[in-house]
Amino acid sequence: MTRCGQEYLEGLRDGREIWIDGERVKDVTAHPAFRSTAASFAGLHDLADDPAHRPVLVQGGVRRAYAVPRSYEDLVARRQAFRTTAEASYGYLGRTPDYMAAGAAGFAAAPDVFTGGTFDGAEHALAFHRRLAEGDLHAAFTLGNPDGGEDDRTLRVVAERDGGIVVRGAKTVGTGAVFADEILVGTIEPLAPDDTAHALTFSVRPDAPGLKLISRTSYEERSRSVFDHPLSSRYDENDAMLVCEDVFVPWERVLTYRDPVATGAIWWQTPAYLNFVHQSATRFWTKLEFLTGLAILITRSHGTEQLPPVVQAVGRLLGMVAQAKAFVLAAEASYEEVDGGRGGVRPGQEISHAQRIMAGELYPRAVQDIKLLAGGALVQLPASGRDLLHPELGPLVRRYFGTPGHPAEDRVKLLKLAWDALGSEFAGRHEQYERFYHGAPHVYLTMQTRAGAAERCESLAQACLDGYGLGTTR
Ligand SMILES: Cc1cc2nc3c(=O)[nH]c(=O)nc-3n(C[C@H](O)[C@H](O)[C@H](O)COP(=O)(O)OP(=O)(O)OC[C@H]3O[C@@H](n4cnc5c(N)ncnc54)[C@H](O)[C@@H]3O)c2cc1C
Repeated sequence: MTRCGQEYLEGLRDGREIWIDGERVKDVTAHPAFRSTAASFAGLHDLADDPAHRPVLVQGGVRRAYAVPRSYEDLVARRQAFRTTAEASYGYLGRTPDYMAAGAAGFAAAPDVFTGGTFDGAEHALAFHRRLAEGDLHAAFTLGNPDGGEDDRTLRVVAERDGGIVVRGAKTVGTGAVFADEILVGTIEPLAPDDTAHALTFSVRPDAPGLKLISRTSYEERSRSVFDHPLSSRYDENDAMLVCEDVFVPWERVLTYRDPVATGAIWWQTPAYLNFVHQSATRFWTKLEFLTGLAILITRSHGTEQLPPVVQAVGRLLGMVAQAKAFVLAAEASYEEVDGGRGGVRPGQEISHAQRIMAGELYPRAVQDIKLLAGGALVQLPASGRDLLHPELGPLVRRYFGTPGHPAEDRVKLLKLAWDALGSEFAGRHEQYERFYHGAPHVYLTMQTRAGAAERCESLAQACLDGYGLGTTR
């Protein structure tokens, strides 16, 4: 059963301990730092009830992203669902409900990976997937550690009690964690073989006693109005540090335990990570389309759209959109079987990992190119829409901020949207997000050396070398 937006919002009013600006947040759905974005997430739940979108988003009463894809056609259908969700926020909400849904489906496709040497989490992983799917729950995840290495600040197990474990310490950058029904806590970076205390994965409710979420600055709260900050006022998905002060986790929510190998393997030997990339690559493609659309509208509003360098710059952006699209389509076309087909199929590894490299490098370039097209108009804007409405100032603003065929109100609206997307603090966070949300560059570049076609590349170069020698004649 899918939940409507109202049901989702009610689930967030559970007394969770969120902190921002020295204040304990009483209700994340009502607080000015979070409420509009909570409403945007709720809107995504309502989307699944909309007859126009339901056939794409839902299959057999369950969100399609939870299904384990069994064929190429299933991957395509899942991407269409990802795309519908991504379009609702123009690609700016990264941790939409389908993100962790796809990850959980990856766990369900290969549950044996959770069977470690000392702990068997296979049934718990399947139950995690079932619980999220049947409850249409929205899960976030925190896998990063506080800066400064593995020490006693990093989340670890400190005790076993009847019925479960006690964890203490922190995990970083929980995107969307304040808006989640559950938070999956784990580790994706390799652990030392004897580091069993940090080697665990579990799912926890945000209202668990002892659990705190320390939020970063809210861009939503700083925004003045939807007109002035159309993206940051509504799609500020938040990133929070998760702190556990002796939080009790029941065994049935523990997926890996004191097992450094299984704790890492659940990301790489199940399709979970590749499923994440399938969702985020589709979202990235949508976001680039949106940004390129903005660029086209800006050049028209500036009256520069016919200039050859501007035409070429737009052509380059459209080429980037095509690249983003090509990575999604190619990952689907190069699908691979999971566990001899018993676990269905997953997007191709080589292309999926390469997408991370492409997106991390392309995004800042696209942003820079559009800023160049926009020029000073991106900055020289009235402080707020109120200037347009003011009886004395309004006529002046309307006179001096318009261009032929583009009334001031339309132009200010467009350029304020562009600034929010390209130059605001919210925009800076998005640049960092596209570079880091799936790990730092040194991690995904190293992954590519394993997933990439190194042998084939080497053998082709070697074949050329082998084809001639000192005595070869032309
Ligand atoms: C906006 C945003 C949202 C995020 N959301 C989530 C989330 O929801 N859940 C989650 O689990 N994580 C999330 N992440 C965290 C992300 O997973 C981490 O940022 C990522 O794993 C990198 O870790 P780090 O930030 O500690 O960077 P580091 O590992 O500290 O790397 C920072 C830089 O240091 C250098 N460096 C460090 N180590 C090496 C090395 N061994 N070799 C070479 N260079 C090195 C590189 O220049 C690197 O870019 C998010 C990150 C951002 C920015």
